Order: sequence, then C-alpha cells, then structure tokens
Amino acid sequence: MTDVADIFATLEYGPAPEADGEVRAWLAAKAPFGHVIDGAQVMGDGFKTHNPATGEVLAEVSQGTAADVDAAVKAARRAQPEWAALSGHQRARHLYALARQVQKHARALAVLETLDTGKPIRESRDIDLPLVARHFYYHAGMAQLMAENLPGHEAIGVCGQIIPWNFPLLMLAWKVAPALAMGNTVVLKPAEQTPLTALMFAELAQAAGLPKGVLNIVTGDGTTGAALVAHPDVDKIAFTGSTTVGRAIREATAGTGKALTLELGGKSPYIVFDDADIDSAVEGLVDAIWFNGGQVCCAGARLLVHEAIADRFHDKLKARMDGLRVGDPLDKCIDVGSLIAASDCARVAGLVEQTEGEVYQAGPVPQTGAFYPPTLITGLHSSDPLMQEEIFGPVLVSTTFRTPVEAVQLANNTRYGLAASLWTENVNLALDLAPKLEAGIIWVNATNLMDAAAGFGGTKESGFGREGGWAGLRAYTKPVGDAKKLPALHIPTGEMAAAGTLDRTPKLYIGGKQARPDGGYVRGVFGPKGACLGEVAEANRKDIRNAVEAAAKASGWSKTSGHLRAQILYYMAENLSARADEFAARLHAQTGQDGAAEVEAALDRLFTCAAWADKYEGRAAGVPIRGIALGMPSPVGVIGAFAAEQTPLLAMVSVVGAAMAMGNRLVLAAPETAPLTATDFYQVLDTSDVPGGVVNILTGSHAELAPHLAGHMEVDACWSFSSADISGVIEREAAGNLKRTWVNYGQAHDFAAPQMDRFLEAATEVKTIWVPYGE
Ligand code: NDP
Repeated sequence: MTDVADIFATLEYGPAPEADGEVRAWLAAKAPFGHVIDGAQVMGDGFKTHNPATGEVLAEVSQGTAADVDAAVKAARRAQPEWAALSGHQRARHLYALARQVQKHARALAVLETLDTGKPIRESRDIDLPLVARHFYYHAGMAQLMAENLPGHEAIGVCGQIIPWNFPLLMLAWKVAPALAMGNTVVLKPAEQTPLTALMFAELAQAAGLPKGVLNIVTGDGTTGAALVAHPDVDKIAFTGSTTVGRAIREATAGTGKALTLELGGKSPYIVFDDADIDSAVEGLVDAIWFNGGQVCCAGARLLVHEAIADRFHDKLKARMDGLRVGDPLDKCIDVGSLIAASDCARVAGLVEQTEGEVYQAGPVPQTGAFYPPTLITGLHSSDPLMQEEIFGPVLVSTTFRTPVEAVQLANNTRYGLAASLWTENVNLALDLAPKLEAGIIWVNATNLMDAAAGFGGTKESGFGREGGWAGLRAYTKPVGDAKKLPALHIPTGEMAAAGTLDRTPKLYIGGKQARPDGGYVRGVFGPKGACLGEVAEANRKDIRNAVEAAAKASGWSKTSGHLRAQILYYMAENLSARADEFAARLHAQTGQDGAAEVEAALDRLFTCAAWADKYEGRAAGVPIRGIALGMPSPVGVIGAFAAEQTPLLAMVSVVGAAMAMGNRLVLAAPETAPLTATDFYQVLDTSDVPGGVVNILTGSHAELAPHLAGHMEVDACWSFSSADISGVIEREAAGNLKRTWVNYGQAHDFAAPQMDRFLEAATEVKTIWVPYGE
C-alpha cells in the first residue's frame, strides 16, 4: 500500500477520473440515435461509434443516405427564409441561448467528447468547450451587428457543413455559429467516428427553442458527406478535413455555383531561434505537437531549431517528454490521450518504422486502446517524406537551420500553409519574419492560440477561406441583388482587310516586354458591324507558362509599400488620361459604345484602386488574451484572370488595379471581343513605371487558355469575368494546387458599381499574427 511518504518521494499522480455517469445515463436513454431533420429524429440503418481509448461501443447511430440528406436539405430550405427574415437581434438571442446551453451543459459535453474521441478531459473541458461557447457568444454579436455593419450583404442560403473527428464540437461551433448568425440554415455531417456531441448539441438547441429545420444533423460516413456535396439545392459547402477529400470536393462542386471554403491539412513549422526562452519554447512545443495527440490540422509538427542550441533543446525536450502522462483520457491528470482509432496507431507506427532518423519515444503507454507514445525524430533532411507529409499523430520531426533566411526557406518548403510558430526574444526578428512565412496563422512565442474573433485558415494546399472574425463572415454572406445572365460569347467576324492596310499586329505582353507568341497564329479583330480593326496573337499553353514565370519572378512587387503601389496606379491613370481619345476611339470601334464615358470611368476606377492601395488595413482582433492578434491582408500572389467583354476597359482596369493595389502579380487574358484595348494598354504600363512581370497580358481564346491558366501550379488564384463558359473548367483545374477561384458562372458583373470590397477581399488573404505580451 502506498503511503503519503511514498507519494512525496515519487511524486506519482494518483488516478483522478472525471465522472461519466450522467453521460452514460444519457447514452443509455437516447441510443440508438437517428438523424435530426426538421426538428425530428429520423432513424436509419445503424452503425456503431466507439470509445477509442477502450474499444467499447458507445452507441449506435444512423448511416445517412442520399434520401436523408435530401430531406435535411429540404427542411433547411423551408426554414431559411423565415430564419433570415428575423431581425439580427432575434437571431442574436437564439445564438446567445445556444451559448448559454453550452455553458450549462459544458461538463456533459466535455465528457461525451472525451469518450467519443479519446482526447484528454483536460483539453475538452478547458479548451474545446470554452471555445465552443465563445464562438456562439461572439457570433450572437455578429448577428446583432449584421444589418449595420454588413450593408448590402445577405445570407447565402442552405449550408452543407462537413466536419472531422479531431474537434467534433468545436468544428461544429466554428461552422454553425457564423452560418446561423448571418441568416443561413444548416445541414451538418459530423465525422463517422465522432457524431455524439453534435447529437447532444442538437438536443440542447431544440430545448433552447431554435426553430425546426434551422440546424439539421445527418450522421454517416464519407458517402453521406459526398451526397451532401452533390445535392443540387445546397448553396455552400464548408469543409474541414484532409486535403485529399478537400480536393475531391473542389472537383465535385466545380461549376455548380456552390460557394466553398476548405480548411485542410498542414505540416506547420515550429521555429526556435538561439535567443528564444528555451523552457517556454519546450513547453509550447509540448502543446504544439501533443495537444490532442498531434491530431490537429495546425499542429507544430516540424521542429526547425537553430543549430547552435539544437542539442540542448532536444535534451530538454526529451526530458519533458519523459514526464508526459499518456493514458485514460477521462483522467484529469493525463497529458496525452488515445488516437482516434487503433488503425491510426498502426498507420502512425508504420510511418515511424520507415524513418532513417533517430527516434526517441516517451513511454509507457497503455497496451489496450488506441495509444501511441509521444515521439521525436531528429536528424531528418527537409525533403524527407516525414518532414513533408502530415502524420496526424503524436510524432514530431526535427531539423536544424543556421540563419533566419534558411529558417524561412525551410519553413516554406511545404505544399501546406496553415500555421507557423516562431520563438525568439528579438521582436524585430519576429516581426520581420512573420510576414515572410507562407501560412495563414503565425504565432510569435506561442502556439495553438485560436479565438472566434481571429481569422483561422490556410494558404496553398491548406485550403482557402477563413473561419472566425469579420473575415469569416464573408464565407456566409453574399452581396444582395439579382445577378443578370451574361449573353453568350459572340465574337464579331468579318472580312480581313487587304494586306498593307492593317495596323501592326500587337504581340503578347510578358515580363514587361512585347513577346512573340509561341504558336505563331493570329486572329482577326472585327467591330460589331464587321469592320476589320486589326489582328492579335493566339496565345497557347507555352505562352501561359512564360507569363506565369514572369509573374512569379516579379515577387518583389508583393513586398512594396501601399504608398509606392498607389503612386504607380495614379501614374497609370495619368498616362491613360493622356491617351484618352485614342482609347475612346478604339473602344467605340470594338464595341459601338460611348468610349469617352468608359475611359472616364476607368480613370475614376484607377484612382479608387490607388486610393485603396495604402488604406486596406488589417485589424487588431479583440481576442481574450494578453496580447494582440493582427489580421493583416496579404497579397494572394499570382492571379490569373479572364477579362470581361462588357465595358472592356473599365472591367480590365478594375481587375488590374485591384490586383496590383493589393500587391499581386497578374496574368490577364484580354477580352476576346475587345483585345485591342488590352494590347493598347501595354503602352500605359510601359510608361508608368510598372515593373516587368507585374502585369502580363495574353490574347486568344478564353476557352483554350482557361484549363492551362487555372491548372498552373504557380498560379495562386484564378478569376473569370469572361462571357465564355469557363467557370466549371477553372474550378475543376484549380483543384490541383487548391487555388482560390472567383468566377462568374455566366452572370454579369456590374463593373459600373465599384464593389471594391469584393475585389480587395479576393485580392488578399488575411494572415493572423498572434503576439502575446507580458513577462
Ligand atoms: P476526411 O477528410 O476523410 O474526413 C473529414 C470529413 O469528411 C468527415 O466527416 C468524413 O466523413 C467526410 N468525408 C469523407 N469523404 C468524403 C467525401 N468524398 N465527400 C464529402 N465528405 C467526405 O478525414 P479523415 O477523418 O479520414 O482523416 C484522414 C486524414 O485527414 C487524417 O489522417 C489527417 O491527415 C487529415 N485530417 C485533417 C483534419 C484537419 O483538421 N485539417 C481533420 C481530420 C483529418 P467520415 O468521417 O465519415 O469518413
């Protein structure tokens, strides 16, 4: 028998299990579970959900079929107009009621979450649940403020939301709270392994008086998710999960007009400089990689440590690992719980067994249940598969760097871009490097900070869209107003003029120079009545490659100040103004419209873009920590854009101006019916100090260029205002590197109304930089 003296000698923890009786009684009373559709329980064929820490069956839940998904979407559709018609205040009261329900039932929800996921109760109780409540409170406020602060925006409609198993209730809150706040209704599919807290939440929502049909839950596996994605009456899909499934969803929704946000995987760097507070950095790292057993999309899974301190840092880390307690997730003294399933242990073990690095593991771990020991692998090269691929388990891989420049290179050497942690006591270094790291979230001397007020989401193959903060609301609203259908693309034809009477044939514009097209083909340009106006080159995929290469090389533009970019945009306006008559005449010849008025509107637009270049500011989010979370708009990178046929000059300068103002480089496909306006624009660019490669212009068929531009791996975003039917192909091809898309689905964009907020949002990504302060 252990006496007090022994305990003092060993400092061993005794067991401190959280009581689970209330939750087990609830499960016994309520199981088997059906879906929650239109406020009623709808039973289906059952499947079992397990406690991964013990393997025991917790409950039977229903496998959602396409018919269940259809019933849920119909219920959501019926409920949506009335829900959206409530005042913001009325919706805020509902969201507040949900927040209160979460707080009142926090302990039961935390215990149920731990039973279903295997995560330590310490995490579900102290991190997940408070954040869930915070999301509902925060978005109650957003509902309250919507009318005044988001004028001209309305709900998207019915949202299909698909969430993973690592933070089941927290992901529900991240998705449901903003959707409901903005007047949308929801069909949510939880992960097949972890459906229980969503079902308990639905019960609490009913008890709180949420109108039926506003929140529908359909449980099931990936086929249920796929049915939701495929449903024609869903207006938006919000997904969190693997990059593979995210890519499949991008392909499945291509061209359907469904809005889409994807929060996908990561391989986030954790960078420790030699001047860091090493003990804090070690403690932070424990949280970065062993929080939720490393099954976290933003886990700091790649340690990059300054060579000078690497040995000392690894030694301290190993000592800390030896103190980690792995075991019963319901035990309040446990640091690391079980993985989501035994098959995941086998998967992680398989990856670790292959490594050529040096493996250090903490132990022991329970022999039954899905437990895997915290693991450190050192001595890996940055191209090692384990340094590149998401392990999604408690495995940290490590390498060293010598200089800040090398640290940034190593950090960015990944197809992902979700988060990064940066540890140094040198604030100048931290704030110099933070913008250079290619990730949506940067933590300075911290890790895993998340809050409803701060945007969360990635770049590159970590997906697109933000959750949280004002940026997150964009994903759940759309501009008010009925879009007009674009007339089908009609390219005037006519007789070629006799040789010798044509204007010179303009070339392509690549890297700041006129470039001969690769293929050597040209096409005639005709006015609306068939008059021959000239010829332009037919660009091909090789020209696209050259233009993208030039744009990629012009990366210095993204680092320039807004003030400099504004000056150049004003200068472009000045040079366009000097040629106003020439542009007006050319517009009139190509479109038959009043060219002079359009040139005036284009000058006005260039001034607007110049004005915004140094005024599109970030926000310091009101996060509940001692510190700040800066939401900084950053350039997207290289944008490929297909110009509009209507008001071609105004449309073109809107796109070019907004992209340039926000620090992007552009490959623009000229309007097909008015390409000479784009080729005349070379002169404006040449005379306005626009650095070579910032704007590249190609002429030719949009339909032929679209798959190549949208599929190019170095293009970060693709926009289309074209009259050609290319929205679908762009979205499908964009799945390759998960580039952001903004396409028109055959609807006309009203360029006469500036709608600069839409352009500036599309031209930027919010990077959230967390800087805690205080000793
Ligand atoms: P998935 O991406 O497969 O699952 C996420 C959600 O999507 C689940 O609800 C899943 O259903 C559903 N789903 C699966 N297939 C489809 C489909 N074709 N169409 C629509 N929905 C679908 O993640 P997993 O759970 O399988 O985990 C696999 C890997 O994904 C992990 O090892 C990790 O690398 C990564 N991951 C990343 C997460 C993140 O936060 N970024 C979270 C979870 C996983 P069901 O669960 O029933 O299969």
